[in-house]
Amino acid sequence: MVSSRRGPTPNLRAAAVVIGVAAGAGAAALQFLAEPPITHHEPRIALLAMDTDDPSDRSGVGGAGTGAGVFLSPQTMPPQDEAAQLKAAEQVSKERIARETEERRQREREAAEAKKRQEREAAEEAARGRVVAPVQGRITSNYGPRWGTTHYGLDIANEIGTPIRAAMTGVVLDAGAASGFGLWVRLQHEDGSVTVYGHINSYSVSVGERVEAGDVIAEVGNRGRSTGPHLHFEVWDPSGKKLNPLAWLREAGADI
Ligand SMILES: [Zn+2]
Repeated sequence: MVSSRRGPTPNLRAAAVVIGVAAGAGAAALQFLAEPPITHHEPRIALLAMDTDDPSDRSGVGGAGTGAGVFLSPQTMPPQDEAAQLKAAEQVSKERIARETEERRQREREAAEAKKRQEREAAEEAARGRVVAPVQGRITSNYGPRWGTTHYGLDIANEIGTPIRAAMTGVVLDAGAASGFGLWVRLQHEDGSVTVYGHINSYSVSVGERVEAGDVIAEVGNRGRSTGPHLHFEVWDPSGKKLNPLAWLREAGADI
C-alpha cells in the first residue's frame, strides 16, 4: 500500500490534527466551563485594570480611586452574621470606652471640686484667724496700770479721719454712742472674743453686719474722755476678760 509505504506520516498528521482539534475543542470546552459568563467577566477586568475616579463605582472594596488591583470576592468576605457580630462587638466596645471616659471625667471633676472646696475652706480658715492692726499710728499708751487705775486698751494716735479696720473677721455687736468713748464699735468674732474701737469720729458699719479682717469700719476721732485724736482698742476673750491688746495683736502676727 502506497499509504502504508509512505509511512505513518499522514496518519500521524491526521491523528495530530484530530488530537489538536480535540485538544482545542476540549480546551475551549474547559475554558467555556471555567470562565464566568461574559457579563461577569467585563466588570471584573474593569476592576482589576481601572484606576477609576468614577464615584459611581461601588463594586470594589476600596471604592472610588482605589479599584486597581483590589478585588475581594464574595468567598473571601466574612459571612453576613459574622460581620454583624463584629459590628455589634465594635459597638459594645465603643460604648464601654465612652462610659469609662465619662466615668473618668466625672471622677476628675469631683476631685477638682474637692480640691477647690478644700482651698476655699483653708482660705476661710486663714481669714478667720487673720489679725491685722486696727489702725496705723503712734502707740501713746499701753495696756496696764495707769493713774491709779487700769488702762485696758491700747491707744494709737493719728489724725482725725484715719481709717480704722476690723482687726479680725466678725459681726458688728455695737456701733454708736458709748459712755466715756463718745462713739464706739464692737465686733464679735467666731471664737467668741470681742474687739472694741473707742473715741471714734464716725463709723461705717451697722449692728449685725459681717466684716472681714481689714475692712474699714470707722475713723479715728477725739470723742469722749480723750486728750487727743487716737483709737482706744481693746480685746476681750470669750469669757469677757480684757486681754493685753498689743500682745494679742503681735502673737497673732499683726504688723504693729
Ligand atoms: Zn485708751
